Amino acid sequence: MAELGFYMPTEILFGEGALARAEKHLDKISRVVIVTGKNSAKLCGALDDVTRLLERRGIEYTQFDKVEENPKLSTCFEGGKLAHDFGAELIVGIGGGSPLDAAKAVAAFAADPTLEKLELFKRESVSVLPMILIPTTAGTGSEVNNYSVLTLDDEQIKKTFKSRNSYARAAVLDPRYTYSLPAGSTVSTALDAFCHCLESYLSPKSTDISMMLALYGAKKLWAALNALESDIAALERTNDTTVRTLRSELMAAACAGGIAINTTGTGFPHPLGYSLTLYSGVPHGRACACFTGEYIKYNMKNELGAKRLRTLAAALETTPEAIACKIPDIAQVKLKLTPDMQHEYIERVKGAANYANSPYVISYEEMTEIYSRLFV
Ligand code: NAP
Ligand code: FE
Repeated sequence: MAELGFYMPTEILFGEGALARAEKHLDKISRVVIVTGKNSAKLCGALDDVTRLLERRGIEYTQFDKVEENPKLSTCFEGGKLAHDFGAELIVGIGGGSPLDAAKAVAAFAADPTLEKLELFKRESVSVLPMILIPTTAGTGSEVNNYSVLTLDDEQIKKTFKSRNSYARAAVLDPRYTYSLPAGSTVSTALDAFCHCLESYLSPKSTDISMMLALYGAKKLWAALNALESDIAALERTNDTTVRTLRSELMAAACAGGIAINTTGTGFPHPLGYSLTLYSGVPHGRACACFTGEYIKYNMKNELGAKRLRTLAAALETTPEAIACKIPDIAQVKLKLTPDMQHEYIERVKGAANYANSPYVISYEEMTEIYSRLFV
């Protein structure tokens, strides 16, 4: 049966120099806050491109550069207050998933200074200042969805803010901004994007459109991850056409994955991975990808899961078993956790909605089995 549900109101501007085409979103804007992490926005060249554009148009701006990896709710609240006091009319987020997710929450706190921190997750509808989002990693797809994954300061757990309004007006995808990303982070973020495509493709919420996007992304990412496995040093050769093509393919694929999960959400590798990131410092992409083998194994037990996995794998000219083996192998998460730690890691994420979001729904006992198989 055909299923074509789809919603994504962000204009995608893709390619080298794409920022120039975002100018129309600056009409009637006189004050802007730029939300970034510590270094990468400057390092990759995007910050200079943005400030040059704003200065040429006589737009006043200030930078909020305090966004840490796995951004804290309190940091976003602080950024929102700054943006409100500055009189910002638009937020520009530049960075990986952390600054882009943070920009959405900053835009919400800036739009409504009466909004309490935790109310962000509770209110039915949250107003958000207009945003332009500029990714500097090719992974999360945050620039094209309305998710803002934040870390709650006190509880040290991740919680997702999303509102029908928390989409960017424009996503500026210029692959050159990822050239400065180190090889290890390039692989980790590509793994995250691959997980998005895979978990979206299997989701019971998927539609024909989200599945097309997931397949488009998965094919490109599988090819890129295989190419990187055989020649990771190639990433240094930024003037080489092959590498420029690879960076461009990664960015397009990650964007497609971001749109796909906008329809479907993600599956169980995501919450199980959050604990590895927050309590053991494993980067997000690797933390999710180390569960891909288990995710595939369980979903092969289900008729729909097995059918979709075989279709996806055939499009990648491989098998579900080969994907189940290769993706965790590339992730290289070698962690030893005591039974008490395993219990604690699972307890923190056991309530996530993602478990229901795949054909095979794992039980608490199965989460425990997975952790004890992977982290002895
Ligand atoms: P990130 O946490 O944004 O950045 C990781 C590191 O890479 C930082 O040190 C950052 O530096 C650096 N970096 C970023 N771009 C760079 C560049 N071009 N050159 C050199 N260094 C660069 O990484 P991420 O994997 O993109 O984002 C992960 C976050 O996104 C997690 O919090 C995760 O939960 C969330 N996420 C969101 C979604 C969604 O749909 N919204 C989906 C998946 C994951 P700086 O600190 O200096 O910027
Ligand atoms: Fe992710």
